[in-house]
Amino acid sequence: MAYDCSFLSDLALDGEVSFGDSARESHAADFGADERGQGVTPDAVVWPETTADVSAVLSAADDRRVPVTPYAAGTSLEGNAVPVHRGISLDCSRMDSVLDVRADDFQIDVEPGVYGSAVDEAVADEGLFFPPLPSSGDISTVGGMVANDASGMKTVKYGEVSDWVLELEVVLADGSVVTAGSKAAKTSSGYNLKDIFVGSEGTLGVVTRATLELAGRPAQIRGARALFPSLDHAAEAVFDAVRSGVDVATIELVDADSARMANAYTGTDLPDVPTVFLEFHADYGVEREIEFCREVFADHGVRQFETADDGAAMDDLWEAREDLAYAIQLWDPDLTALHPGDVTVPISDYPEMVKFVKGLADDRDLLVPCFGHAGDGNLHYSVLVDEDDDEQVDAAEEVYRATVEMAIDLGGTATGEHGIGLGKRDFLEVEHGSESVEAMRRLKRAFDPRDTLNPGKIFPETAGGERVRADSADDVR
Ligand SMILES: Cc1cc2nc3c(=O)[nH]c(=O)nc-3n(C[C@H](O)[C@H](O)[C@H](O)COP(=O)(O)OP(=O)(O)OC[C@H]3O[C@@H](n4cnc5c(N)ncnc54)[C@H](O)[C@@H]3O)c2cc1C
Repeated sequence: MAYDCSFLSDLALDGEVSFGDSARESHAADFGADERGQGVTPDAVVWPETTADVSAVLSAADDRRVPVTPYAAGTSLEGNAVPVHRGISLDCSRMDSVLDVRADDFQIDVEPGVYGSAVDEAVADEGLFFPPLPSSGDISTVGGMVANDASGMKTVKYGEVSDWVLELEVVLADGSVVTAGSKAAKTSSGYNLKDIFVGSEGTLGVVTRATLELAGRPAQIRGARALFPSLDHAAEAVFDAVRSGVDVATIELVDADSARMANAYTGTDLPDVPTVFLEFHADYGVEREIEFCREVFADHGVRQFETADDGAAMDDLWEAREDLAYAIQLWDPDLTALHPGDVTVPISDYPEMVKFVKGLADDRDLLVPCFGHAGDGNLHYSVLVDEDDDEQVDAAEEVYRATVEMAIDLGGTATGEHGIGLGKRDFLEVEHGSESVEAMRRLKRAFDPRDTLNPGKIFPETAGGERVRADSADDVR
């Protein structure tokens, strides 16, 4: 249903409003929903420039029951940022200022549209960095990372985005502005509102400012690459390294299919065998840690273990890994990557998880490249299919579903970092149980009783086109 958004023209915003086709159409897709065409074209796009703009838009939209879907860089992989009920796409990408760097406190204040890599650039001269950046850090924003509770290659050592957010300014659905968290390193004051907003995918409030914690850049950074005779050997080696306490900042698994695809896309010449990429961070003694890892990997039949120093050699090492998402998508024009898998399991179950996915793929003769932030039990997998072949598509859906269910059975999660969005709604109750999901629903109603913010996401019933509405009363405030 189309909404009359002409009220936006009367709001005297600092930012811009557009009702034009090209602006609206470009906000009907994000990286994940693009291929599947799940998004709909919003009726208007607003680029706010201030917190007051965001507040004015939300207050007016909420009064009129017009949906508002926050949008940042649109790199979400589960359709998180696309509107499904039209209304307004609230594009926060122009709120892109670094507000303050307090190096002595290891803190930075930023607006939500600042790119992740820009945070690192802003603090590099101070010898600091923002550790939980996702692999997409140079194409995605702080607002999107906070909303999806993103994480990345260094999460195994440093944690995810939620571990590095200290304070948020958030505009609620009715336009009121709240501050959640504090600038202290710890707090036990009141409910932890900040962590309710982190990971809420724009369904509970719009982040307009974030105070992020930073880490000191280690004096020694080394990369390494280890080649294994089989994927099972590689997965067991990752588990053993983590269990043994090897102090590793990054430990990424890439299977032989992914290595081949990376070579075709990036022009690298990775051996097409299961490979583990590593990075070690220390202020001193890094070589000792590398030796420790080498010994652990030797117990798992590692065939080659080579290291690289900081600089160009490290860049070469990471290039192929960083471009993997694109490499898989562009591997074969006749094959489509069905859904981006993002399961995460306790580390002791990682080898079993990897074996399970590959077993399903082999049984059905499907191409399923696997890779991921293995050190935190995360496995990305894409089932490649010929979309005109119904039987193959059904088999691929089965692989995808069975893998997520297996991860949940193992005590893990359907999504370690991409969020639920549109793509994983079916698994919310499987993972959390109906009572926990009802508690989430109550939280949603308390913050956003008219279901103004990003309606159609997360909750299973929204797959049927429902919105999460207040129980009864027309006026819910
Ligand atoms: C090649 C590639 C690699 C990737 N690698 C990783 C990875 O390693 N780790 C990982 O975690 N993810 C990864 N992703 C997924 C994605 O990049 C991240 O989830 C990223 O944080 C999304 O940021 P964005 O700026 O693109 O946000 P968008 O996709 O535009 O939006 C994300 C969500 O945030 C909401 N939102 C946007 N702005 C705000 C705001 N100001 N306030 C409240 N809600 C808001 C949107 O409604 C949406 O629900 C990858 C994606 C790609 C394409």
